[in-house]
Amino acid sequence: MSKDSTLALPSDADLRRLIHFSVSDGRIWLAGQRMVLVHTAALAALRVELIRNVGLEQTRRYFTRVGFSAGTSDAALARQIRSKASLFDMFAVGPQLHMLEGSVQVTPTHFEADPATGHYRGEFRWDNSWEAEVHKREFGIQHSPVCWMLVGYASGYTSALMGHSIIYKEKHCMGCGDAHCDIIGKPQEQWSDAKELASYFREESMLSTLQDLQARVESLQLETSPEINRTQLIGRSEQFMEAYKLLHPAAETNVTVLLTGETGVGKELFARALHDLSLRAKKPFVAINCAAIPQDLIESELFGTEKGAYTGAFTSRKGRFERAENGTLFLDEIGELSLQAQAKLLRVIQDGVVERLGATINRKIDVRLVAATNQDLEQAMKDGRFRADLFYRINVYPIMIPPLRKRRGDIEPLTAAMLKHFSSMHNKPVPVLTDYAYQALRTYDWPGNVRELQNIVERTVILSKPNRPIDAQDIFPTLGFPSGDRITTKGQLTNNDAPISIDCRGLLDQLNTCGGSLNELEQNLLQEAVERAGGNLSAAARILGITRPQLSYRLQHKRTGRARDHE
Ligand SMILES: [Zn+2]
Repeated sequence: MSKDSTLALPSDADLRRLIHFSVSDGRIWLAGQRMVLVHTAALAALRVELIRNVGLEQTRRYFTRVGFSAGTSDAALARQIRSKASLFDMFAVGPQLHMLEGSVQVTPTHFEADPATGHYRGEFRWDNSWEAEVHKREFGIQHSPVCWMLVGYASGYTSALMGHSIIYKEKHCMGCGDAHCDIIGKPQEQWSDAKELASYFREESMLSTLQDLQARVESLQLETSPEINRTQLIGRSEQFMEAYKLLHPAAETNVTVLLTGETGVGKELFARALHDLSLRAKKPFVAINCAAIPQDLIESELFGTEKGAYTGAFTSRKGRFERAENGTLFLDEIGELSLQAQAKLLRVIQDGVVERLGATINRKIDVRLVAATNQDLEQAMKDGRFRADLFYRINVYPIMIPPLRKRRGDIEPLTAAMLKHFSSMHNKPVPVLTDYAYQALRTYDWPGNVRELQNIVERTVILSKPNRPIDAQDIFPTLGFPSGDRITTKGQLTNNDAPISIDCRGLLDQLNTCGGSLNELEQNLLQEAVERAGGNLSAAARILGITRPQLSYRLQHKRTGRARDHE
């Protein structure tokens, strides 16, 4: 592919449709990406400030990298939106979005690309570059090109789309007094000054100073607030901190702690954090889930057995209490213990001695006990299922861990940490989530709490595909959250009083060019919605803004209608 008439940009109606002004909730969307309208005057002020503070070179790096990141995000859109178009038309999404986003007017003058071999050469004329305008206004005519962010965008976009590092350079620039800007893009290795050029794009060259600083700040934080970094707990919300702050005074003593809260809130992590904060941190932390062990085995598990204590006890065995010697024993689901085991446990707590099953001697033990339950123990006590004396022994220092829906502010940091963790565990790149996806995570009620979030994030990481951002639909396939690239009038995230105007002209053009009919269009829309909802008709109906019976009727009706057409 090369010059001239073949380089006419296709209609951008498909892209315009993706822009949605959600006025009443103060958001603008470009498909699943949240956008903002920024004054060029504000960007100019930022540019001037940065140049004065960190110098021209470093500012150029910042702007190049910001542009690069925007270009990379838009490349993902190109793949989604024009997957079936020709290579040039798919590529054209970048230049066209660059225009729609108000950055610059782009005219392609040369385009050769072969993603299979990595061959690429692209030349474009740029008019009305906002960057050149702003830079010239602030600093006058320059000796070297100044469209840093724009060049970053083109490079990020093309590199992501071609799967190969492509770098652009300005041959002419309005900032240097030329009538317009001209850019050339080719694979990084084909530039003679590749090394120098690449330094503007590489994250490390620009961020190394910041990263060094960050590392230093983190180590300082570790020194000043060692407790928060020694634990694996993540959270900064008020509700979380309330519970977290109670750990510290308890950690300094040997008091028995009772952790309460719904299933999945992270009681074991809290218990471990308490252990890590205490003077016992270097000693064993032993956890046992009382609900997971059969009642007839729980006593031998907890207190150990002496050889010959019962048929089959061929050797002596330490129980969990003895294994946690000088450390911490975490008894999860303590409400599930039988009354007999409760009586034995009470004796251990009162006397500080353990008696193995079948033993004739007691062993003195030094163990800090942390118990946890999701039951209402006071009720269990009233019902006679839990011993009152044991309850008062363990309920000395209760800590209530809030459910995830009461600490929504922690959902994002938790998700980010889990994405990192599971990506490295499953050897995958850390996936990027769309703003819709985050919105969905924040609004969901999380009946299974942190554990449910963990399961969902792990599944999402496993199913993630490279270069494809994770959307709300990918996370909750059955809940009918609208996905980023199809915002419907009935979607939870759109604005009811300003319904989206569908670009009918573009749609009609498309119908005309591909020779389709209105019936086929409707059928395709219905199918797409059903697929996107993973076959769940109720969710698909929500996406389409119709009722489930309406959807089934239409699907039925279309099928028979089509069958008739073929007769
Ligand atoms: Zn320029």
